[in-house]
Parts: sequence; C-alpha cells; structure tokens
Amino acid sequence: MARNVEIIFLGTAAGTPTTSRWLPGILVKDWNGYTILLDSGEGVQYQMQRYGYSINKIDVVAITHPHGDHINGLPGLIQSMYMLDRRKPLTIYGSPETIEFVRDTLEVERLDLGFQVRLEPVENSGSRILYSRGGDELLIEWTPSCHSIEAYSFKLTWRLRPRIDPKKLAALGIEDPRLISMLTKKGEIEIESKRVTLADIALEPLKEASLVYTGDTSPCSSIMTLASGARILIHDSSFDSNHKLDALERGHSTAADAAEIAHKAGVHLLVLTHVSGRYRGGEARILLNEARAIHSKTLLAWDGMKLIMTI
Ligand SMILES: [Zn+2]
Ligand SMILES: [Zn+2]
Repeated sequence: MARNVEIIFLGTAAGTPTTSRWLPGILVKDWNGYTILLDSGEGVQYQMQRYGYSINKIDVVAITHPHGDHINGLPGLIQSMYMLDRRKPLTIYGSPETIEFVRDTLEVERLDLGFQVRLEPVENSGSRILYSRGGDELLIEWTPSCHSIEAYSFKLTWRLRPRIDPKKLAALGIEDPRLISMLTKKGEIEIESKRVTLADIALEPLKEASLVYTGDTSPCSSIMTLASGARILIHDSSFDSNHKLDALERGHSTAADAAEIAHKAGVHLLVLTHVSGRYRGGEARILLNEARAIHSKTLLAWDGMKLIMTI
C-alpha cells in the first residue's frame, strides 16, 4: 500500500503579504490523517478554509521563530479552534520566546479553551516521536537555523514498519519473539556481541522519507546536516543573487544559496519559498532559474500548491 503525505503551501510570501502570496504556513497531512502546521503566518486559517482543510484536524503546530510573519496567525487559529468546540489536544513546538508568546496570548484571551495546549519548547538540536502506530513512526527533529533571532528548522520523518523475512530470522538464529519485538521497536539488537539491525531481517528495503522546512535562514551548516538525504527540502529563498548582501544581512538566503545546500545535502526535491514582495507575479521565475542551474529538481512554491510525497 502506498502511503501518501500531502504538503500544502498556505502562504509563500516573506515579511508582508502580497495579493498573490500570503504569509508563511505549510500544512502537512499524512495517510493517517495526522496533521502538522509548519509556521502560522497571518491568514493561515483562512487559507486552510480556502483549500478545504479543517483547522480542528491539526495535531501539531511547529513555529520556526517568533517573527510576526511566521506567528501572527496563531492567536486567531487558537481562538477559532475554541469557537469550533475543539476537544483534542494541540501541541505547539517552538523556541522559548515562541512558547512565551503563546502563553501570553492564552493569558490575554482568558479563554476556557476546552482543549489542552501542550507547549514544547525546543533548544539546541533534538527530536521527538510524534506517533507510533502499528510499528509505523513519525519523528520530528529540529536544529537551530542561522537567522537574526533564535530560530529553528524542522524535519519530519516517516518510517514504515518493515515486513519481516522469516528466512533471514532463522539464518540469524532469532526465534525468541521478545527479540523480534525489541528489534522492531529499537531498530537494532545485539546477539552474541554482533549488531543485528532491522534492515538485516526485513523482507524489502526499509521505507522512510523526510521533509525539511528551514524557516528563515541564511546558508547554514546545521541545516545541511539536518537535510542530508531528505526527500524534500523547503528552503528560504527570499532573494536572487543580485541581492546576496541584503539576504545575508537580514538572515535570509538567495535561491542559489538554497540550491547549493540542497545539492550538497543530496536532497531529492528542493522547494523555494518565503519569496520577497519585490518579485511580482512571473518575476519570481528568476529565483527558479537561478536555483535550477545548480539543483535541477527545484520547484518554486506558490499559494495553494500541493505536493504528494509517496512512501
Ligand atoms: Zn519570515
Ligand atoms: Zn524571520
């Protein structure tokens, strides 16, 4: 069975909205219906309605940093969840400053929400398992990006439970079902001081796929590490190379910077977003051309663009 992850670009602008690009927000929904919102710029809840997604389905919101263009949609989103009688908990990942912003918002609004808001401050690099279902796993990882304030990039990785090959098990002498379940859960065990990994007993190659979203950043080595081997990298591409200094000074990237990172990290598909308002309509094509010269598999995001990642 193919498992599809939908990635919907709700807003692809930088700083201020334009008539064709709203502020940053990316919705990710997997085949289990598990839904993650990456950044919550002003208007994301409206954009979700426009593209046919329910805000109450969101399980996790991950905010890269508390600049207004990435966070101002969050108070309205929470207020609407309350109005729509949400019951299931909402988890919010973000820097300590982001978490403080959410706390202040909840305090000022003084709403008896009727649902739990779980706040998950992130620092340094780290990871959490978002869910584990029937052996399939969704992992969220983060690492600091290189921006003008404390900011983070996020990675989502889906790992599918492998089908086990009884012949390979027998060849390795593994019969104890407890060993098999340990192996499935932890991915490796030690037998007679030999490391046996999940891949050693799987019937077919392990299936996993990752998506990385940088948020705002200038070219950043920690992101290159995070994005290594990712299927999709969604990278800040505020400017073209004629404005490289501008980009660096403001903690942003050019399309060429994004493409260099994608290329070096061995990413399958690069998606450019966070497009400066200086590029109106088709003018943004300059970003795409510049990036494609370095990394041919590149797309320029637009509001409403939907990608399907099949695992
Ligand atoms: Zn921004
Ligand atoms: Zn920013």
